[in-house]
Amino acid sequence: MEAFEKLIHGQADTLTVDEIAELLGTDTRSDAFYELVRLSNRQSRSRFGDHGYVFAQIGINAQPCPVNCKFCSMGAGHYVLDMQGAKSVETICEEVRLLERDYFDDFFLMTTANYPQEQMVEIGRAVKPLLRSGQRFVANIGDFDLDMALRLKEAGFTGAYHINRLREGTDTLVKPEQREATLRAINEAGLELYYCIEPIGPEHSYRELAVEIARARDLHIAVMAAMRRTPVPGTPLYSLGQISAPELTKIVAVTNLVVRPSRAMNVHEPTQAALLAGVNQLYAEVGANPRDTDSHTEQSRGFNIQAAWQMLAEFGYQPLSS
Ligand code: SF4
Repeated sequence: MEAFEKLIHGQADTLTVDEIAELLGTDTRSDAFYELVRLSNRQSRSRFGDHGYVFAQIGINAQPCPVNCKFCSMGAGHYVLDMQGAKSVETICEEVRLLERDYFDDFFLMTTANYPQEQMVEIGRAVKPLLRSGQRFVANIGDFDLDMALRLKEAGFTGAYHINRLREGTDTLVKPEQREATLRAINEAGLELYYCIEPIGPEHSYRELAVEIARARDLHIAVMAAMRRTPVPGTPLYSLGQISAPELTKIVAVTNLVVRPSRAMNVHEPTQAALLAGVNQLYAEVGANPRDTDSHTEQSRGFNIQAAWQMLAEFGYQPLSS
C-alpha cells in the first residue's frame, strides 16, 4: 500500500486525505494493524524517548451550556450532571494547591463555552503564582478573539486547548468557521495550541476522521490527542455507543504518525492498548467534565495523578523530573 510506504519512508506530510482514510480503514485483526502500532510506537520512542507527561485539569463550572453538544453531559437541552454551580476563585486555588502536592506537567482550567471570559482572566491571575516556575498553563474555554487571546496570555496562560470537533455545527451549535477564527487568534497571540481528534464515535467515517487529522497536521501541533466519545446516558448520541479499544488504538497510531507531535501523544479515556501505540501523556481530571454525569469526575471517571503516572510507568515512561 502506497500510504504505508510513505509512513515507512518518513513522508507522512505528503499523505492525502484519501490515503489517511485508507490507513484508518486497516482491519484491526490484520498484520497491517500491528504494523501501524509498531510504527507509531517506534516514532514516539524516537521523538519522546522515555519521557512521559501527566497533565492535570480542573473543571471550573457545571452549568447548562448553550452550545448544546449532543455528546456532552452539560448541553443545555439535555443537562444530566448531578448539580449546577461554579467554583469560587478560592476553591480553585485550594484545588490547585492540593494537586501540586504531586508532580504533574501542564495545568489546564476548563469551563463551559459561555463562562465569562473576564472571570477566566481573573482566575488565571490568581492561579499562576501557585504553579511551578515554567509550568505550562492552558485555557480550555469557548471561542475567543485575538484581544482575549492576548489577555489570557498576559494573565499567565501559555496555551489553549481548542479544536474543530467532528461534525462541528451538526452535533454542536458552533460553526467550523468560528473554531478556525479562534485557532488563528491562538496562533497570532503566540499561545501554544493543544489539539485532539474528538469525540470519535462509531458513526464517523474514516474520511471524516482523516480530514481532521490532516487539519491537525497543518497546525504543527506539539501535543496531540485522540479521544473516543464516552456515551453519557441522557445525551442525544448515547444510543450510538462507542468505538472499541483496538479501533481507538488504530486511530491513535494513524494520528500520531500523520501529525508527528513534537512533545507528546495522548489518548482519552486511557486504555493500555493505546499506550502500545506510543501514547506518552495522560490526564488527571478534577471537577465537572463533558464525559461524566458526576460533577466530581475525580471520584468517578477521572484518573488521579498517581494512577496516570502508574499507567505510564508500566510502559516505561517516566517524568522529566526523575
Ligand atoms: S462540550 Fe463544551 S461547548 Fe459543548 S456543550 Fe459541553 S461544555 Fe458546551
